Amino acid sequence: MGERARRDEPLASYTAMRVGGPADLLVVCRTTEEVVEAVGRARAAGVPWLVLGGGCNVLVSDAGVRGLVVVHRADRTHIGADGTVWAEAGAPMAALARETAARGLAGLEWAAGLPGTVGGAVVGNAGAFGGDVASVLRSVTLLKPDGEVTERPAEWMAFSYRESRIKRTPRPERPVVLAATFALTPGDPAALAARMEEILAWRRTRHPSGATMGSTFKNPTRKSRRASDRAGRAEGVPHRRGDGLGVACQLPHQHGLRHRRRRPGPHPAHPDGGGAAVWGPPGAGGGIHWVGRGGELTINNDQ
Ligand SMILES: Cc1cc2nc3c(=O)[nH]c(=O)nc-3n(C[C@H](O)[C@H](O)[C@H](O)COP(=O)(O)OP(=O)(O)OC[C@H]3O[C@@H](n4cnc5c(N)ncnc54)[C@H](O)[C@@H]3O)c2cc1C
Repeated sequence: MGERARRDEPLASYTAMRVGGPADLLVVCRTTEEVVEAVGRARAAGVPWLVLGGGCNVLVSDAGVRGLVVVHRADRTHIGADGTVWAEAGAPMAALARETAARGLAGLEWAAGLPGTVGGAVVGNAGAFGGDVASVLRSVTLLKPDGEVTERPAEWMAFSYRESRIKRTPRPERPVVLAATFALTPGDPAALAARMEEILAWRRTRHPSGATMGSTFKNPTRKSRRASDRAGRAEGVPHRRGDGLGVACQLPHQHGLRHRRRRPGPHPAHPDGGGAAVWGPPGAGGGIHWVGRGGELTINNDQ
């Protein structure tokens, strides 16, 4: 890695939140070969490593990260006339969506304006506006921790809501996504452009500029909507039945409620956690209740 590796590099410059302490070592890789080499060297030296894409879905501690951070910026793409689209993992997802739509290929419009890379989107099964990676991914090229480069079909990823087999794999065994192949379908470029413009307009009005993680809540499931309704009733929070989190998240604006963060922990009305958040009035046991399955603060962006 030589001179490309930086020591004690603050990670704040590599994350959307603009926070994060130093990485012991950091290397920005602009080709797949550089990624393979960096990971190989870390493995040979017994140094822990992790891969960062756009840093749009991570919250890095002020204490920083021990070991090597590999920033994946390899971004070559190939768009086939038959709708097969190949992209290196460091390619920006939003640019890929724009390019494919301009070539009359449908399937990635939902990713208009999505911050981050193809690799990050694949790992987190990113999605928005009714689409997600799982519905268009054909296969992935992976670098296994033992150094083997291998191809896996999309089914291998065992995708679920904002989850994948890679995301569920503990870090030392986690493979690196080197590239992804998508199967898109023919579409009308003008219609695709119009849809993407709608999505971009939506994002512009909802997402603040500057340091941000986008939205921090999971989309409600039917179960979490019911639990949220119960929580709203229990806390005397005005809400419409069935609106669940949608209304809960609008409450501070609509009802002038102040919001404070509470200690993370399961809410009695959310026995299964579910990563939901419930707003309530301050003083009456209110504030924001951050509810994760293990009582953790869940960051899970989507629309
Ligand atoms: C304003 C804003 C709006 C957003 N809107 C949405 C939205 O609508 N829908 C949505 O799903 N998300 C959304 N997000 C979250 C974010 O854009 C996505 O999760 C995105 O896919 C993250 O990609 P990234 O490259 O930044 O990943 P990173 O944050 O860099 O990494 C995320 C995780 O993936 C791992 N990783 C990254 N690249 C690789 C790789 N090549 N190989 C192996 N592991 C890797 C990292 O180690 C980390 O664990 C939003 C974020 C912001 C800031």
